[in-house]
Amino acid sequence: MSETESRNFIESIIDKDLAEGVYDTVHTRFPPEPNGYLHIGHAKSILLNYGLAQKYGGKFNMRFDDTNPTKEDIEFVESIKADIQWLGADWEDRLFFASDYFGQMYEAAVKLIKKGKAYVSDLTAEQIKEYRGSLTEPGKEDPFSGRSVEENLQLFQEMKEGKYADGEKVLRARIDMASPNINMRDPVIYRVAHMTHHNTGDAWCIYPMYDFAHPIEDAIEGITHSICTLEFEDHRPLYDWVVRELEYPQPPKQIEFAKLYLKNVVTGKRYIKKLVQEGIVDGWDDPRLVSIAALRRRGFTPESIRMFVELCGVSKANSIADYAALEYCIREDLKAKAPRYMAIIDPVKLIIDNYPEDRTEMLPAGNNPENEELGSREIPFGRELYIEREDFMEEPPKKYFRLFPGNEVRLMNAYFVTCTGCVKDENGRVTEVHCTYDPASKGGNSPDGRKVKGTIHWVAADTAVSAEVRLYENIIDEEKGVYNEEDGSLNLNPNSLTVMKDCKLEPAFAGAEPYDRFQFVRQGFFSVDPKDSTAEKLVFNRIVSLKSSYVLPKQD
Ligand code: ATP
Ligand code: MG
Repeated sequence: MSETESRNFIESIIDKDLAEGVYDTVHTRFPPEPNGYLHIGHAKSILLNYGLAQKYGGKFNMRFDDTNPTKEDIEFVESIKADIQWLGADWEDRLFFASDYFGQMYEAAVKLIKKGKAYVSDLTAEQIKEYRGSLTEPGKEDPFSGRSVEENLQLFQEMKEGKYADGEKVLRARIDMASPNINMRDPVIYRVAHMTHHNTGDAWCIYPMYDFAHPIEDAIEGITHSICTLEFEDHRPLYDWVVRELEYPQPPKQIEFAKLYLKNVVTGKRYIKKLVQEGIVDGWDDPRLVSIAALRRRGFTPESIRMFVELCGVSKANSIADYAALEYCIREDLKAKAPRYMAIIDPVKLIIDNYPEDRTEMLPAGNNPENEELGSREIPFGRELYIEREDFMEEPPKKYFRLFPGNEVRLMNAYFVTCTGCVKDENGRVTEVHCTYDPASKGGNSPDGRKVKGTIHWVAADTAVSAEVRLYENIIDEEKGVYNEEDGSLNLNPNSLTVMKDCKLEPAFAGAEPYDRFQFVRQGFFSVDPKDSTAEKLVFNRIVSLKSSYVLPKQD
């Protein structure tokens, strides 16, 4: 890291730890529960943890936090792995499952019992809540807290052996029922749950609680800095208590940062599940969602997501990012990388009446004016072309510089043409636009210094590649906000998906493969849909349009 680079608050903590010899290395982890798809917020956590390991020459672990058998779903394990790999975070050979440590967690609980720091209680969940007190009132001692070490060891073993029904007994840490921090009022650390676990099967009928399990998982793996989100701040004293009482030689340290939220974007599992179940979206990877799978399918790059996460920064203060910032990042990333070809999304024919019927010319054009390395191509040109329907108006408003009767425009890379009129069907819909061209303006250059104000793109009709193009808007109605105040449902935008079935693309697009990304000249960035596109019928997703109102925030 260069000396001038500014540090975020986590890096400052790490610097201090290394300087003071608290740790001599940095070891981080990403610990998802396998109970849903990862979203853009998780990407921040992944890239933060992996990035720190990289910066300090340390290690990064991937760990499934699968200690809770009710919610986990093995299906998510594979999707989560694929998402993290795609983002470029490399756990090398360190892929772990918290459930592999159940034996060590059990031993840790026994150790606490032997130290007099844990006891078995027969209180019900409701009673425990009652005894716990509130923010203003201290808790009451558990009537079972006086059990002897021997009795506790015996009962805990019986819990493990399956002698008790779910909820009949729990193991509690003995800390302080009067603590101002409710998490420290003798928290439950083990519960009975007769459930089959996806990894350990029926080997266990007691399961550790998150606040007990997590610090142990970190300690076993030699994690130094255990980074989590702000809602765990009040749990940190318990985290520290667990690693201290278990006497780990180099206890890990919990550090909290603020979650990443996006304005007017849904990330909640519950809501997305409902959208999927009701068929409003096409699965968890529907390009209108912000799961990592959805962003990948839509055509976002890992680089753009990294850039976005860096732009958002790391802090302790909650803030809400703009989706427009993410769009800014993908435009920045693709503007020099993606070839710029011509594609007509809503086509209407343009016929050049003075162009020979049987002629086809090949016109040269650069593939990206910002990147010579992308080379050039030849584009076929002929008498019949397609143009965007909106590039012609029979009766134009002021400042409309595109095609209208009598007006001359430049066909990009080709010729100047002057509009002579149009043909309409019985409903008044334009079916053909007619024009004449000036052969002396080849290449789109003025032959005599005369100027045209409009330049439009086009695709030759007889060699056009047909494709479907999907245009997306926010699935949320931004004027109303995400949630309906009355019933808590989502305020959906009915126009979030527009499917254009008969788009016309220049031949350079032929053979485009899933995930290939392009700039459609004058329109935006598009990517080949990996799920629905075929060699016969290409399907493109609009990643982002070219227009932006987003202004990059000033960096200090
Ligand atoms: P759940 O409600 O199921 O706990 P979760 O989104 O917290 O959902 P986890 O699998 O527990 O999912 O999260 C894994 C890691 O990702 C945690 O360390 C968590 O703090 C972090 N994380 C989750 N959401 C965000 C977010 N919006 N921004 C940054 N980090 C996040
Ligand atoms: Mg969580």
